[in-house]
Amino acid sequence: MTLRIGCIADDFTGGTDVAAAFRRAGLRTALVFGTPDTTTELPADCDAAVVALKSRSTPVDQAVADSLAAQRWLWTKGAAQTYFKYCSTFDSTPQGNIGPVTDALADAASTRLTLHCPASPPNGRTVYQGHLFVHDQLLSDSPLRHHPLNPMTDSSLIRLLSAQTHRPVALLDLATVRRGVEAVREAVLRHQQRGVRHLVADGLTDEDLAVLGAALLESPLVAGAAGLAEGLGRAYPTATQLAAEPVPHHGRAAVLAGSSSARTLEQIAHFNAAGLPSLHLDVLAAASGRDVVGETLSWFDRQDPALPVLVYASASPEELNAVQTQLGVAQAADLVEEVLGTLAVEMAGQGVGRLLVAGGETSGAVTTALGVRAVLVGEETDPGVPWTYAATKNGELALMLKSGNFGAPDLFIRALTPEGASR
Ligand code: ADP
Repeated sequence: MTLRIGCIADDFTGGTDVAAAFRRAGLRTALVFGTPDTTTELPADCDAAVVALKSRSTPVDQAVADSLAAQRWLWTKGAAQTYFKYCSTFDSTPQGNIGPVTDALADAASTRLTLHCPASPPNGRTVYQGHLFVHDQLLSDSPLRHHPLNPMTDSSLIRLLSAQTHRPVALLDLATVRRGVEAVREAVLRHQQRGVRHLVADGLTDEDLAVLGAALLESPLVAGAAGLAEGLGRAYPTATQLAAEPVPHHGRAAVLAGSSSARTLEQIAHFNAAGLPSLHLDVLAAASGRDVVGETLSWFDRQDPALPVLVYASASPEELNAVQTQLGVAQAADLVEEVLGTLAVEMAGQGVGRLLVAGGETSGAVTTALGVRAVLVGEETDPGVPWTYAATKNGELALMLKSGNFGAPDLFIRALTPEGASR
């Protein structure tokens, strides 16, 4: 058993993000969807495993219970270290869930001090004097101020955490981080002896996060976003430069899109403009009982197997609104997810070996329908959008799960055709 890092991510796309970061650092990484159980299998010889939960906005007790279950499972797989991944904008409320989940994970691991650093420099998230910045703005001046679930109206991570835990919180400042690994280790020890339980570290660059990662190799629990995960991954002696992978090319290629995010609509338009075969699902027809799945499959059968195909329920805001008014928001979503899930299963049975799924919820529905619980993470085609590999009853399936606004406009074509970049 080689598993070193067991990571718990508080949402699904965050799970993909942090898994891609470990992979980038050279760790062979698995991604597990939802709370695993005794029947959940990991791909062989992983250095890191990420369990992607939906615990960011659930009630505190539920988030704590799910995180502890994930941690226990990761321990059974041999994980020596737990990484708690939350959003780089520290999405949470005064009730939690970051503070209570960290406290519970720390107690279970019998560790006293947990270092936090949500910096993610490639995305413009930095921490200075314990304050979180989004590009050139303080978090509380950024659009996150108006987030519908977790409005972030304070930028001080010390204050934000102190509201969520009774345990002492302190700052590890940038000057100390810049003095290097030994200085950080000494400071962590000093704070621990003084009774500090949450230590918020400054970090502006990937180099700062590499220093923190190297200093934290022996810590039972570390918390932050994808940036510190990559720093930690790079510090692992097992981290090797994994060989570059070619774009997967076995089996037919398909895109199933349930996302109506602006970027997904651009990607669909780009695919259509290239003259590739695509079909827009008629959601109202499906609701009226027409065999939309059967019709789509016979259309799929008639397409050139050498070309990628696109099936999309995605719609303009007006069209979406019309469907939702007629069917109800949840009913429409359930129906679309059921249709796309069934199509994924049927198409995999008919020779699809490469499947790109657009949409966070849609990805959850498709992986559930396919019975995929864990995947091996491959190289990223675009930032935060890696190929992943799942063992299925039809053999290995290459899966790309893309949340709505991720990926460049030409992602579908680049990911699914070897000559895609030049198309
Ligand atoms: P994103 O990542 O862009 O938010 P999601 O897949 O998470 O995408 O969410 C899109 C939701 O919209 C899904 O629940 C999907 O089932 C639903 N949906 C997709 N197409 C339609 C449609 N034509 N009418 C109504 N709902 C739809």
